Amino acid sequence: MLYKKLAELYESLGGTTKRLEKIDILSKFLEHLSDEDREIIYLLEGNIYPEYDERKIGISNQLAIKAISKATGINSKKVIQEWKKIGDLGEVAKKLTSEKKQRTLASHILTTKKVLENLRKLPELEGKGTVDKKIALITELLTSAEPTEALYLVRTLIGDLRIGTQESTIRESLAKAFFENIDEAPEKIQDAIDKSNDTVEVFDYCKKRKIKELEKISMQIGKPIKAMLAQKVSTIEEGFKALGKPCAIEYKYDGFRMIIHKKNSEVKLFTRSLENVTLQFPEVVEYIKQFVKGDSFILDSEAVGYDKKTKKYTSFQNISQRIKRKYNIEKLQEELPVEVNVFDILFYNGKSLLEKPFEERAKLVRKIISLHPYKIISSKQIITSDENKAKEFYKEALRNNQEGVMMKNLKAPYKPGRRVGNMLKMKPEEKDLDLVITGAEYGKGKRSGWFSSFIISCKGDKSGEYLEIGKVGTGIVEKEENKEDNEKVSFGELTEKIKPLIKKEEKEGVCIKPRIIVSVTYQEIQKSPNYNSGWALRFPRITKLRPDKLLSEIADLKEIEKDFNNQKRNWRYG
Ligand code: AMP
Repeated sequence: MLYKKLAELYESLGGTTKRLEKIDILSKFLEHLSDEDREIIYLLEGNIYPEYDERKIGISNQLAIKAISKATGINSKKVIQEWKKIGDLGEVAKKLTSEKKQRTLASHILTTKKVLENLRKLPELEGKGTVDKKIALITELLTSAEPTEALYLVRTLIGDLRIGTQESTIRESLAKAFFENIDEAPEKIQDAIDKSNDTVEVFDYCKKRKIKELEKISMQIGKPIKAMLAQKVSTIEEGFKALGKPCAIEYKYDGFRMIIHKKNSEVKLFTRSLENVTLQFPEVVEYIKQFVKGDSFILDSEAVGYDKKTKKYTSFQNISQRIKRKYNIEKLQEELPVEVNVFDILFYNGKSLLEKPFEERAKLVRKIISLHPYKIISSKQIITSDENKAKEFYKEALRNNQEGVMMKNLKAPYKPGRRVGNMLKMKPEEKDLDLVITGAEYGKGKRSGWFSSFIISCKGDKSGEYLEIGKVGTGIVEKEENKEDNEKVSFGELTEKIKPLIKKEEKEGVCIKPRIIVSVTYQEIQKSPNYNSGWALRFPRITKLRPDKLLSEIADLKEIEKDFNNQKRNWRYG
């Protein structure tokens, strides 16, 4: 297919904010998509391979700028100037390509096959000369591109397509294209996507136009599967009401989700975002081989950090660097050990357990793992109908430095990728503080072009002194159009507010004048050497801008200390 046709599709999808119109456009496209062109669906998702595949495009703005410069013959400084003016690197490529077209006649025809071919070479490149080779591959595409094609090529490269097609749009479009008027189709398609994480595979099955066929798509050991997600409740009573009695209650460990696959002697570890972290956790691979019985299985667990000396659990922030680190792993493993807390099992010795009730799966977990505290254990669990016992258990979890508890329906199946009402989380009530933004860090990937993480500060003891108390990147919405709640602030909005306040540019970000006041909710205040206030907020989230507040009204050290001393009271039942 000509890339031009795909660019036209992007234009029409991006040209409407209405979901139904998007579905209409996309379903017609998918209905007529030939087998030969089916991998275009990856491009539509902003990818080059299925979601579970780790080979991503991963091109920085800087590299894209160099390629635009080379393809259009306009120097990088000018490209950057245009970028600052227009704010969207894709639009810059479009403008400069169209200016160039007026000067030259050279034009080639770009096909989606060629685009995929070049983009797929990018993650394969390694070692010396990689940057130049990448630029050459991109430049080759950009030189053949028409202006609109250049726009979408660049947006694809930097991971920001801006056409507003989410997974749910693709699901609904597949349903409309191949199973019109079959009510259960979207649900079945979603199940298939959640199990395979490969929309092209699901497309192949949809084309058969037999809904039953979709059930043949199943999970495979070694291929990451999406984790089941939890809904929130505020009290134990609410939890019991939703789940019935008795139910299982477990510690909610404050670590990160780890889905563990084992087939014969091969172990693979994945995060909730399907990232393969096997190399980063060699000790976990050993624990699985030594302490879990079975030839093949998929376990769902939370990896939690602990202090080697005191054996106390530490917060997720402490171990987060282990996920990214690709070198000096042994040293880091010594410094930041993790304990694996297994709470579910999805597959065992050749059989899927997704449809089995939770109580059966939880029993099996406890049967096959030999417990080795500080290495691997099954999650701490009680099964009860007694509200007081449940509350005691919750308090015990908090005393043990965990986030709260999970309440689970004993009869429920496992639904990959779904936020289900039969697994509930309960954490302490959140509090909020008004604070000021004093710095920001540049975003990457789909957030490039924005600031994506913000340093928040409180008032110090001296006049005009602001002391850092945390870094926050949550609570902010991606795009203006996604703002269901008018009070919420978007990354774009915050970035625009920050630009004129920049005092100093640094490698990772900027320091800014303290002007932007925000309300920040958090779960807990901790003493911390990491910030110059001596305090850190746990789980901070920006809830809204407070233009109505004065700097003199934001929280000071005294208020922070008071909240710290009072916080046990927010734990409920405390
Ligand atoms: P949240 O991230 O706040 O939505 O809470 C859900 C997360 O809690 C899951 O994705 C897991 O990573 C984590 N978690 C910790 N302990 C458990 C547990 N016992 N059962 C299920 N999830 C748990």
